[in-house]
Amino acid sequence: MARIVMKFGGTSMAGTERIRRVAQLVKRQAERGDEVAVVVSAMAGDTDRLVNFCREANALYDPAEYDVVVAAGEQITAGLLAITLQALGCEARSWLGWQMPIHTDSAHAKARIGSIDTDELLASMKAGNIAVIPGFQGLTDDNRITTLGRGGSDTSAVAVAAAVKADRCDIYTDVDGVYTTDPRIVARARKLKAVTYEEMLELASVGSKVLQTRSVSLAMKEGVRVQVLSSFVDESAPDADSIPGTMIVTDAELEKYQVERQLITGIAADKNEAKITLTRVPDRPGAVANIFSPLADANINVDMIIQNVGRDKGETDVTFTCPQADLVRCTDILENRRDAIGYNRLIPDTKVTKISVVGVGMKSHAGVASTMFSSLADRKINIQAISTSEIKVSVLIDEDETELAVRVLHTAYGLDAE
Ligand code: ADP
Ligand code: ASP
Ligand code: MG
Repeated sequence: MARIVMKFGGTSMAGTERIRRVAQLVKRQAERGDEVAVVVSAMAGDTDRLVNFCREANALYDPAEYDVVVAAGEQITAGLLAITLQALGCEARSWLGWQMPIHTDSAHAKARIGSIDTDELLASMKAGNIAVIPGFQGLTDDNRITTLGRGGSDTSAVAVAAAVKADRCDIYTDVDGVYTTDPRIVARARKLKAVTYEEMLELASVGSKVLQTRSVSLAMKEGVRVQVLSSFVDESAPDADSIPGTMIVTDAELEKYQVERQLITGIAADKNEAKITLTRVPDRPGAVANIFSPLADANINVDMIIQNVGRDKGETDVTFTCPQADLVRCTDILENRRDAIGYNRLIPDTKVTKISVVGVGMKSHAGVASTMFSSLADRKINIQAISTSEIKVSVLIDEDETELAVRVLHTAYGLDAE
């Protein structure tokens, strides 16, 4: 007997038929005698719809009320899955974020989970009742609903798995594992049997949306065993315990999965970045702090930053990227501080993509960045910004060139499947 947390994403939960298939997978796991908790996403497209309602109501919406609206999608699917499981003869009940509760901080729209009360939940699971938990949602200390940022149900699942000390957290999605790049962009992407926490964390943080970044850092910190696998399977498919998907593993475990180390593990593209350029910023101490401090205070994560060398008149241009979802708030803050900062023009651009190559191998190998730059140059793809870390190189390019750039790099680093 094991204790398993199963998570199903939006595509897997989209409609009655798919929920029935999910219920069958859950039933199969429970029939093995396992204690099962299921974390669900809203139906595909529903969260986008709810986000749009908020934007239409007011582009500068109150994030606390946004959370009330967007958390609703998961409430619907949790109830529906419990009903469907009951129809299959299983004992099941839903546990909303505020009912457990899942405690979070008060950073609305991107809240962090602090702790989860599991006594009642565990007692219920031990009694054979399947727990159905809406992902994405939590509760602040003063009883306001929060959500965990887009894709946050992955983090809910890993947090629940850590809290109940689950033997494994299975993340069911619409692809059958983690690939060298998005298999929907590159048909020759290769499925990885295993990938290390460190590399998965970097891949997620640069836009491989197959797992939310925080879910990976939490799994790494808490030692949660995570598998990514497909929910689009029939009864003849091997069961989850035989690890048909991709396991996220420690460095030491990687050998067990006989994964050959490559210089580059994966490539990610992120279309959700926006670029902002401020022209003619004074070139003096404190000028950059004047720009970025208020953005930090507003919880806006700035990523790539370029400051040109000052020109004649003691002025310079500053370019940076932030999540597109924060663009309106970001420009609003900067426009309100225009005199204090002293820039001339603010130029926003959402037609950009960040492309990143990730691999632990680059810690000890030079030349990864130059291969990237020359491969892109050969195809006349212009690089607008660059950033690097120990195990990744990212470039910002025109959004229209996303697919071409990913394909070119996938081939250049020898990742194409035979
Ligand atoms: P869910 O709704 O189940 O949470 P997501 O859409 O958030 O699913 O994540 C799954 C998607 O992630 C896949 O459909 C795929 O297009 C995309 N993806 C991006 N990069 C990768 C990768 N390296 N491996 C697998 N899938 C990836
Ligand atoms: N429904 C939420 C979203 O679309 C959370 C998730 O699916 O993980 O972002
Ligand atoms: Mg997701």
